[in-house]
Amino acid sequence: MSVSSASSSACSNAEEVRRALNTCFHSGKTRALTWRKQQLEQLNKLLTENEQAIFDALKDDLGKSQTEAWLGEFGFLQSDIAHTLSNLEKWAAPRKVATPLVAQPGKSYLQAEPLGVVLIIGAWNYPLQLLLAPLVAALAAGNCVLLKPSELAAATSSLIAQLVPQYLDREAIQVIEGGKDETSDLLTQNWDHIFYTGGEQVGKIVMRAAAEHLTPVTLELGGKSPCVVDCKTDLSTTAKRIVWGKWMNAGQTCIAPDYILVEQSFKDELILALKKVLQQQYGDSPLTNDDYGKIINQRHFERLKNYLHKAHVIHGGNADAQKIKIEPTIVEVSDETHPLLQEEIFGPILPIIAVTDLNEAIEYINQRPKPLALYLFTQRKDFEQKILQQTSAGNVCINDTLMFMSNPDLPFGGVGSSGMGNYHGKAGFDTFSHLKSIMKRSFKFDVPVRYAPFKKWKLAI
Ligand code: NAD
Repeated sequence: MSVSSASSSACSNAEEVRRALNTCFHSGKTRALTWRKQQLEQLNKLLTENEQAIFDALKDDLGKSQTEAWLGEFGFLQSDIAHTLSNLEKWAAPRKVATPLVAQPGKSYLQAEPLGVVLIIGAWNYPLQLLLAPLVAALAAGNCVLLKPSELAAATSSLIAQLVPQYLDREAIQVIEGGKDETSDLLTQNWDHIFYTGGEQVGKIVMRAAAEHLTPVTLELGGKSPCVVDCKTDLSTTAKRIVWGKWMNAGQTCIAPDYILVEQSFKDELILALKKVLQQQYGDSPLTNDDYGKIINQRHFERLKNYLHKAHVIHGGNADAQKIKIEPTIVEVSDETHPLLQEEIFGPILPIIAVTDLNEAIEYINQRPKPLALYLFTQRKDFEQKILQQTSAGNVCINDTLMFMSNPDLPFGGVGSSGMGNYHGKAGFDTFSHLKSIMKRSFKFDVPVRYAPFKKWKLAI
């Protein structure tokens, strides 16, 4: 385990780190808005002063191009910080609510207070953003934080562990690197909140451990996100946007379209359009194209390659074992029990599933666990309304993919097995806050009817 804190009393295990953070929290310094703003400004400085090192680490871990690294991680975080800084005072201010007649004269309001010491566990696919965006929210809300980056994105994890103590308050924010053993150790501790991003199985482990201490959790999980394409759509823009959202980060995006549902009669036209756009965006040789990312590690590379057994490859399908890259691949699968149709793909393979009509598409979606994201391409309002009313998903984007992430006013999170809780913008601030209900009464009037003895009042009635 490597603990990153430049303080001379650097702690050596999970319990000591948690205790040290607890002591810091109880000093009260993280509650001050000035402290919170200063930390957010420092986090921004960490990014801007280390831009190239960050791009290099992301290239190392995932072969991310600078444009993708900027879009999905660096730029995302910078605008998240800017948005948080410009709204922080408003979010932290008392939130007045109405007071009923029986409690008059008086006033009622909610006051956001920090939860305390929170644990943030990140995933490997957007290893910077998925760790630091929750950090932005946790700091804005005035918490002390322990960060646990994903060990699978080793270069980014190590860079974060090196930079965080250089820029942020070392007493209030610490980093512990490591994998299963270190995370298990951390999960034995009594945190005030656990924010976990990753797969469903570990999500259950996190929730079980949290239950021991009645610790609230936010679980940002995954699942199979459907993409429904209606024949009444702008086909060339639809294809461009599907290709962009599916093959960014070589398909290793929790909200990437996992599979396409399309009417049988429109399927061939859609496939043709997707192939054309793939050629335009990644050229004839995506495996040698620097704009196209690699698979995170050998294990996932093998997992994805195995998916291609017994699948009918319509496009792509080649792989480079040395570079651990797999071409953007489109498949058709006839066997309903094939893992491509059962498991979250989380890679550059896109199954196309033909349905007879919209009703069958809705039935297909509803027979499966609630997805993290649902995409719909259509120019028909009734089609749109039917999908919205008859299916459930954490987030929906109509006529585009991934773009809802660009709006900090849209809370991001799953539903059912795709997760619980949400964040981004004010939703993130609220996730890491307790909204304390406060009523203040006046001494001016006092209605005696509520006090004992009650008998005489009954008689009066
Ligand atoms: P991962 O392997 O990075 O694991 C996530 C975290 O759990 C890591 O920090 C890891 O150290 C820890 N961990 C792993 N095994 C553990 C164990 N046995 N006990 C305790 N901790 C353990 O990530 P992953 O699970 O491979 O991520 C992929 C999944 O995450 C996909 O399902 C994807 O959809 C989902 N995801 C969701 C979001 C979101 O925002 N909702 C974002 C990214 C990824």
